[in-house]
Amino acid sequence: MLTEKLAQACPDLCIDTDPDVLQSHGRDWTRFREPQPAAVVFPANLRQVVKLVKAARQLELALVPSGGRTGLSGGAVAAHGEVVVAMDRMRRVLEFDPVDRLLTVEAGTVTAAVQSFARERDLFYPVSFAAEGSASIGGNIATTAGGIRVLRYGLTRDRVAGLKAVDGRGRVLELNRGLVKNASGYDLRHLLIGSEGTLAIIVEATLRLEPTPPPSAVLLLGVTSMPVILDLMAELRKGFSLSACEFFSAEAMHMVCKARALRQPMDSDPPFYLLVEFDLPSEQSEALLERAAAVLEYAIERGWAVDAVLAQSQLQASELWAYREGISEAASAHTPYKNDLSVRLSRMPAFLSALEEATRRSFPQFQVLWYGHVGDGNLHMNVLKPADLDTVEFERMCKELSREHYELTARFGGSISAEHGIGLLKRAFLAQARSEAEIALMRGIKQVFDPDGILNPGKLL
Ligand SMILES: Cc1cc2nc3c(=O)[nH]c(=O)nc-3n(C[C@H](O)[C@H](O)[C@H](O)COP(=O)(O)OP(=O)(O)OC[C@H]3O[C@@H](n4cnc5c(N)ncnc54)[C@H](O)[C@@H]3O)c2cc1C
Repeated sequence: MLTEKLAQACPDLCIDTDPDVLQSHGRDWTRFREPQPAAVVFPANLRQVVKLVKAARQLELALVPSGGRTGLSGGAVAAHGEVVVAMDRMRRVLEFDPVDRLLTVEAGTVTAAVQSFARERDLFYPVSFAAEGSASIGGNIATTAGGIRVLRYGLTRDRVAGLKAVDGRGRVLELNRGLVKNASGYDLRHLLIGSEGTLAIIVEATLRLEPTPPPSAVLLLGVTSMPVILDLMAELRKGFSLSACEFFSAEAMHMVCKARALRQPMDSDPPFYLLVEFDLPSEQSEALLERAAAVLEYAIERGWAVDAVLAQSQLQASELWAYREGISEAASAHTPYKNDLSVRLSRMPAFLSALEEATRRSFPQFQVLWYGHVGDGNLHMNVLKPADLDTVEFERMCKELSREHYELTARFGGSISAEHGIGLLKRAFLAQARSEAEIALMRGIKQVFDPDGILNPGKLL
């Protein structure tokens, strides 16, 4: 009935109520809620988005903005009769400005398409992660996606030079217009970045591209414990320009090898792996490779590392990256409960030990996969569902465990969401991460942008 009224108000809007589309577009990568949207709409341009928001206000319809649906916190889940606003038909490149190295695209544009566009013009879009082939720029901005190159290039937040968005009143906001300098008051662009679809629907983004980086090498080290990863990183940072620094546990390695039918890269089976990518400009490659061999020898002598594999060709490098990038997908078969935590790098080893200890004490039956962007102090903790445990009970137990983990996170001065957002799944824990005053201000901001609460209700706040 409401859908019919929406169709009357927005006659040229594509509205789909096919049960398969409701299923596929009503959720993201999380599997803890059944999708139950009333409809999925596919706006084709800014005008249709404005009309949709104004109609939704009148009809009191909740809207769930949706990009590539690769989110890991339930931000794009529609489980209560909402209307999903899918950006699949808004994937055009609108403008390329080679002087400012700026690219303006519609929000539904897939992240990998932006990377390819930049590469074809001898430029580089550095935001990169395993879901880049499906995730959208709008979703990346709404979650301020990080990925594997934050160490050198920062987050999606650092890429956004301008935004066009429609707020909950149907007003079009054109923010910052690609400027480097703009000190004319509050930067509303940065409020929308990371707002998880709760303040506005992002319609267009102007992204800052980078010069093509020099050739690189990838080094995978088998390391003996978590604390020595920091020693190794300190050693590597002295002589190399690092562009990525990732870690993962032996269990994560075993799972990827099984899921992808890969051979383990080393004969030994160390408890942790450290994967680093560093610049290898051709004129310095001999000296840098000698230095890498010396660091490795030193690390083995000191008992930090047991073995290493160095990739110098593009093909070898992608083979090594496959071990790291395959983890999320390999784990997905086990309905993982994901925690995406961050602390200062220096506190990471003690933090990880404390988390492990709390898990062993409270839920010794749980298997946990550890991996993450160690260079950024970002730990991905995936609790795997035991096959015989019901999903609802598993989520309840994980929430109980999370409460303990988030207390530890607060004690270590960290964050309960490094890059995946709060969404639906972490909403109950926001007060463990942000102060009462901060949450009150966030609610006030929400009220200004979206007075009727039609944009992604029940998420984040
Ligand atoms: C295998 C795998 C690996 C991953 N690795 C990483 C990683 O390394 N780093 C990382 O940061 N993330 C990672 N993610 C998480 C995910 O890919 C990111 O959060 C991504 O930015 C989500 O983009 P999306 O288009 O899929 O968004 P969706 O899942 O569709 O939506 C995410 C949130 O953004 C909102 N949203 C979407 N589009 C818009 C819009 N146009 N306007 C307003 N709000 C909008 C939604 O309402 C929702 O709250 C990974 C996910 C997977 C599946």
